[in-house]
Amino acid sequence: MKVIGLIGGMSWESTAEYYRLLNELARRRLGGLHSARCVLYSLDFAEIEQLQVQGRWEEAGEILASAARSLEKAGADMVLICTNTMHKVAGQVEAAVGIPLLHLADATADAVRAAGVRKVGLLGTAFTMEQDFYRARLEAAGLDVCVPDAEGRTLVHQVIYEELCLGVVKDESRKEYQRVIGGLVEAGAEGVILGCTEIELLVGPQDSPVPVFPTTRLHAEAAIDVALAE
Ligand code: GLU
Repeated sequence: MKVIGLIGGMSWESTAEYYRLLNELARRRLGGLHSARCVLYSLDFAEIEQLQVQGRWEEAGEILASAARSLEKAGADMVLICTNTMHKVAGQVEAAVGIPLLHLADATADAVRAAGVRKVGLLGTAFTMEQDFYRARLEAAGLDVCVPDAEGRTLVHQVIYEELCLGVVKDESRKEYQRVIGGLVEAGAEGVILGCTEIELLVGPQDSPVPVFPTTRLHAEAAIDVALAE
């Protein structure tokens, strides 16, 4: 089994999910007492969030790149950035190491296409929904991506940083997300990407009339596939 390297802590609420899912998937695939071989470098999210707000992406990228180098030294065979948003600096991280980066947008696009969905809604942080680094990668994979209107994007973004990243899961926010998902479906979305690694802590398939694509789970599944490949 290959060693999965995780750059986590962004936030740790979703990194804990990654750890649980990787181990559950390894046990399901291999049985018995099997668990995932992995190395975690968990960052202080307050530091990263400040750099995001100030637009200092290059500095944030250097922090992640340095974490990736540590993972490689610790024996990781691949690197996962455990957040959609920080894939904005995926190129910087990839360039820092000799091991492959398993890009979250690729794992997601593969799952969306495999489900036969072409037009897909994207929920995530404002950075992920409004900038090109993530959407363009989905579009390059042949998907037609739509995002909520400005009010919906603000709501989705605020719930991520002010609730989910702090471990707060509220029924009112779930209802608001259901409303936003309804708007995406009205706009023609045949599926919805939960494009922030905390969103699946709040909503699941039961909250959407169309299939949802939970990125933490999809990323963990892709990593286990690579880890267990011959
Ligand atoms: N975990 C979130 C994501 O997947 C948001 C936190 C962050 O800004 O990294 O985008």
